[in-house]
Parts: sequence; C-alpha cells; structure tokens
Amino acid sequence: IKNTPGFSTYYEAWACPTDLEEIKKALVELSEEYFKKNPHIKTFGLKTEKVDSGIKIKSNDVNVEGGSAVWKYFSSIGNELSVNLDNPDLKIHIKIKKDKTFLFTEVEKAVGGLPVGTAGRAVALFSGGIDSPVAAFLAMKRGLEITAVHFHSVPQTSKQSIEKVKELIGELKKYQHKIKLYLIPIIPIQKDIVHNAERKFSIVLQRRAFLKLADMVGTKEKKESPAFITGDSLGQVASQTLENMVAVSQVLEGRGRIILRPLIAYDKKEIMDLAKKIGTLKISEKPHDDACSLFVPKNPETRANLEQVLAEEEKLNPDLLDEALAQAEIFEV
Ligand code: ATP
Ligand code: MG
Repeated sequence: IKNTPGFSTYYEAWACPTDLEEIKKALVELSEEYFKKNPHIKTFGLKTEKVDSGIKIKSNDVNVEGGSAVWKYFSSIGNELSVNLDNPDLKIHIKIKKDKTFLFTEVEKAVGGLPVGTAGRAVALFSGGIDSPVAAFLAMKRGLEITAVHFHSVPQTSKQSIEKVKELIGELKKYQHKIKLYLIPIIPIQKDIVHNAERKFSIVLQRRAFLKLADMVGTKEKKESPAFITGDSLGQVASQTLENMVAVSQVLEGRGRIILRPLIAYDKKEIMDLAKKIGTLKISEKPHDDACSLFVPKNPETRANLEQVLAEEEKLNPDLLDEALAQAEIFEV
C-alpha cells in the first residue's frame, strides 16, 4: 500500500465489532501494546469519528468512556496520564463503521498520486542513468501505465546498461506491478548518423531516432501510447537546451502525441534525492557505458536549427528504424 500510487496515507489498525464494550476492550489492548514500545508516555487523547450513517453509538460516549478505560489501564500500571487533545504522546484514532470499528495510532504517508493506468499509457525512455527512472516514477505516480524502452550499442558497449535498466525496472515494479521492457539495438543507426550527417548534429539526430522508435513501440503495443517520458532537465547537458528539445519534439508534430519531461525544472540534487527515496539511485550510480557517449562530438550543437536538422536527417536511411525494432528483445519484468 505504501508504494501503490493512489494511496496518500495508510495505517495499521486494530479492528473490533462496533460495540462500546468491545471498543473499550480494544482500546486497552492497544494501549498495552503501545506502552511496551513507548514506556515514557505522559499524555493521551482520543479522536472518534463515525464513518457510516445510522450508527447508534455516540462519539462523545466513546471519547469519555473509552478515555476513562485507557486512563484506568495506565493508572493500574502506575502511570497516571493526563488528557491532551491537541498534541498528546499517544493519540488514538477511532473510526466507527457500521459493523466494525478501527483503532490506530500512527498515520503513515504513502506515495500519493493516482492509480497506475487511470491517466492512460506512456512509453518511458530508460538510459540506465539517474534521471530516467525518476521521470518514469513521476509519470506512474500520476496514473500513467508505462512501457519501458532502452536503446543500446551492444557489443560496441558492454551489457551493463541493459543489466542496469532491467534492475531499475525491477525496482520500479513496486509502483507498477508489470512493466514491459523493449531493448533495441542501435549501432547501425548510430553508424548511419556518424557517417552521413554533420557531426555536430549527431546527438539531436540520435534523440530523434530514439523518439521515432519509441513511437513505433507505442503503436506496436495493444493500446497506443500517446505520451513519451524522458528524464530531460533544462540545461543539464548540451542536448537538453530549449532549442534541442524543440528539434526533438518536432518528430511528433501532427501525430497527436506528446513528450512529457517530468524533471524539466528539477536540479540534479533534487533528482538525486528523489532517486534515493524511490530506491533507484544505487542502481543508477553503478558504472555503465552510455550508448550515446560512443559518438559524442567534440562540439555538440547546443542550439540546433530545426531546418538544418531536418536537412541532415534527409541523408539518413529510414529503413534502419524498422530493422532495429524488428531486432528488439522484449521482456515482461
Ligand atoms: P539520464 O540520467 O536519464 O541518463 P542524462 O542526464 O544522462 O539522463 P541524456 O543522456 O541527455 O541525459 O538523456 C536524456 C533522456 O533521454 C534520458 O533521461 C532518457 O529518457 C533518454 N535516453 C538517453 N539515452 C537513452 C538510451 N540509451 N535509451 C533510452 N533512452 C535514453
Ligand atoms: Mg544518461
């Protein structure tokens, strides 16, 4: 429950029949348990709430008689508590429903958000780095069901990035229970870009190829995915300037699709804190050869001109995209 998007809080509760004597009994049992772990308590308070309508028990009776039962229990073990309703050491919440009553002390925070799938579907691009799993998590948290895609240059690079992405997705499974992962080999596409297009546009052209492939994956899936998730953060690296993002986003023009960049305004530190919280940081920090770093030009274009990019892309072989997708390995994690 703690990790399931859609729950904002949860608590471990004692349950008893909705009956004043039963509630008093449960209150004493709960107090005994609580005291074992917290022997230094001085104050307590009850907060009673009727959840269903038509319940005969009066909240005030529960507060007064229940409070007295708790007080008597603590007195009997030599610990005279005083009542404090605002900020007690021991606060017991009592939620009365028609048949059952629930009693609890601590309210825990869950992830919040919306249940996965209720907001639609998206393809999330996973590099193996720190940012992309955090971006995917934020998308899942707001109700998107994701399909994961990773582009790799094996055997030119080691298999580390693939292992990392699998491990990252294994970790994210606690938020979305089944995640499909596409592993797509891109060496032929990278070679085409390096040999046939102007060097400074390599990264933008590769990014556009990534998005085209992700779009093809989205179409291949049973239900189409109208959104793509990336871990871009404005200005973090050369490929993440506004101009370059425009040049990449243009791939989807007229397709009724959208790139979502949940981390666009996050600082690296903020992203890392979140990565730690969701359990992906340790995995992302393991070393891997980046598929992109294979052919990072010395002076990458930071303000790509769209017309120039499109002209360079004309020189590339579009069939390589279909060939890459045909070679994809698909895993259900
Ligand atoms: P990350 O920490 O997620 O690797 P980054 O800071 O290294 O991000 P880039 O390398 O510019 O930034 O990548 C930006 C985004 O592009 C990534 O967050 C990811 O969504 C996508 N991406 C980059 N490389 C790959 C890849 N090999 N496979 C799939 N997606 C990728
Ligand atoms: Mg990266």
